[in-house]
Amino acid sequence: MKAPKDADARRAIAPVICYPNDNLRRPPLDTYRAARDKATETNRITIPPREARCFYVTAGSFFRITCSEGAQVGDLNLFEARNLEEHFYSGKTRALHGSHINVGDRLWSCLPYLRPMATVLTDTLDWYGVDEHGGRVHDVIGTRCDPYTHHLLTGEDYHHTCHSNLTRALADHLDRPLSEAESLVHDVLNVFMCTGFSQETGQYFMKASPARKGDFIEFFAEIDLLCALSACPGGDCGAEHSSDSPQCHPLEVSVYAPPAGALDGWYSPSHNRYSRRHSHD
Ligand SMILES: [Zn+2]
Repeated sequence: MKAPKDADARRAIAPVICYPNDNLRRPPLDTYRAARDKATETNRITIPPREARCFYVTAGSFFRITCSEGAQVGDLNLFEARNLEEHFYSGKTRALHGSHINVGDRLWSCLPYLRPMATVLTDTLDWYGVDEHGGRVHDVIGTRCDPYTHHLLTGEDYHHTCHSNLTRALADHLDRPLSEAESLVHDVLNVFMCTGFSQETGQYFMKASPARKGDFIEFFAEIDLLCALSACPGGDCGAEHSSDSPQCHPLEVSVYAPPAGALDGWYSPSHNRYSRRHSHD
């Protein structure tokens, strides 16, 4: 189509931020850090390569995901521990904080709950920033690798995508059939994954994670959480995912609980306060 005469003027209009987040309450990171200093490890689990596992984190506790042996991307799902209908909302987290998450950003739950589920407290990759390709770390754009898209593009079946890993882990943990567990899986936070959009086509790209052995990201649990984490079959996601070719490593999760009184003055956030009347009046 031929561009209109005022095409340049239309393109020159300055963008506005869709969701200015200045009004969001800032997380009390100093309070969290003081509590974390006194916290002790209460649980540690290993996520084997190309598998997923579930774990609980109590509100007011902390969980750390570590590349214990080498660069490894993780796909994380979060649920309210007693109400699995309330789960992580990758899309609105992206709308509020941007395509990748940083220290102080929240992981938000789905509608109608829309409250912080967890807050990023520490990230050993926070130095990475944005690279020359537009790549950043820890994205909320990539949904999750899944066997349906893989079949669509290759005609092949592969059963250890993060979607399938999370499905099996939830089925085992909740003692539910795979079909029921599958419907609980939702778009993830991609921890340690380095991604962006190509300048030329706008396509989603990935490149080898800058994580190294010992790198970690740590969260404060704002509410009681059931977490499910998959060690992606893409390994560091430098070449491909959805196959057994890439070198994969385990991920280690540690949970830390502070002593009683360490979080005095802090309250677990309530559900969103919108009236839910959706009214014509
Ligand atoms: Zn994956």
